Amino acid sequence: MYRCAKCDRVTTARSSAHSVVSEIRIMEYPHRSNAIPVAGGKRRKRAKRDDRGGRGWEIKKEVLVCTDCLPQAKADFEAMVASVPTSLPVITEAVAEEA
Ligand SMILES: [Zn+2]
Repeated sequence: MYRCAKCDRVTTARSSAHSVVSEIRIMEYPHRSNAIPVAGGKRRKRAKRDDRGGRGWEIKKEVLVCTDCLPQAKADFEAMVASVPTSLPVITEAVAEEA
């Protein structure tokens, strides 16, 4: 038993709960030089590679909804994702500081 986040009704016992994303946030991670260690030999200095960063959306909040509310919750989620601007500003990549 649980309370549906959409219709606010308490469900009957043994009814299915559906976890859906109710809020998202737009995130942007910058480029990082030499951030990811790469496995190497014991005696060699461990090599590192760049984290290229990225942008997009992340889950901010998930809620449980009942089977009756699931189609509407899915439609709300798809509208939310569609509203994310696809032309976010391009990150000017950090220049690796190498001699
Ligand atoms: Zn419901």
